[in-house]
Amino acid sequence: MNRFKKKTVVVTGGNKGIGFAIAERFSAEGANLVIASVENQVVEAAAKLQDIGGSAIGIVCDVSDKDSVAALYNQAENEFGSIDISVQNAGIITIAKVENLTEAEWDDTMRVNTKGVFLCCQEAIRRMRSSGNGGRLINIASGQARDGFIYTPHYAASKFGVMGLTQSLAKEVALDGITVNAICPGIIKTDMWDYNDRVWGKMLGDYGPGELMADWVQNIPMKHAGEGKDVAGLAAFLASKDADYITGQTINIDGGLIMS
Ligand code: NDP
Repeated sequence: MNRFKKKTVVVTGGNKGIGFAIAERFSAEGANLVIASVENQVVEAAAKLQDIGGSAIGIVCDVSDKDSVAALYNQAENEFGSIDISVQNAGIITIAKVENLTEAEWDDTMRVNTKGVFLCCQEAIRRMRSSGNGGRLINIASGQARDGFIYTPHYAASKFGVMGLTQSLAKEVALDGITVNAICPGIIKTDMWDYNDRVWGKMLGDYGPGELMADWVQNIPMKHAGEGKDVAGLAAFLASKDADYITGQTINIDGGLIMS
């Protein structure tokens, strides 16, 4: 399939994990990719996308900083001429008992996971509206936007926030031909889940490396964790013509872990 030929796709947190898998998928389908993350490695990650055959640039950006986000979208537009699809994927997590959770952890999590999604949507919408060509916004939330897990109230709140802003923006931009949807991944094998496995594992029992994931996977009807490419397939669907009539939705992709 070559559904996104000549389309410009921005993916935040696109240097690794779920974000890189999403970028790879759009690249393989002909899109011009702009990937963004905090570390310089994003430039090397963009080079890997070019090896797949697509045009790609990597830009260092902090999604929680308004000027940095504006610069990201300006650079994307200067390079490729338009913004057609924007995937707000960058996110962070920490895990702590409520008494130990610091104000800084709360603020950082909300700043990156919720404000960061908003700032990127805002910049993308501004450009999509003025182009008159519509567009697609895809926000990566979490199963924790449906069901808050233990020791992560700040993360759960930040992801519930993503669902709310997705719905509100979807209503505002529907007549501009822009759709806004959110994805809730379940347990996906990435660096973030390695951290979860280690830290939650210690807090919830005497779990060794990989044991917490193995335990939680037993609660998944499909009995296995997901991969970045699973999430990428859904993101590509939501960005495709087949999803023209879908907006304001939050869709789980978790092997059946959460069914609401
Ligand atoms: P990773 O930790 O592997 O990757 C996180 C990405 O976000 C990195 O590219 C990182 O950049 C980037 N990032 C973090 N902070 C910022 C910032 N301030 N500005 C720009 N980029 C930033 O995570 P995953 O791939 O696992 O997660 C991707 C998304 O999916 C997140 O939103 C996460 O909450 C969500 N999710 C993940 C699940 C899972 O099981 N893995 C489950 C549910 C949701 P850098 O490397 O430069 O720091």
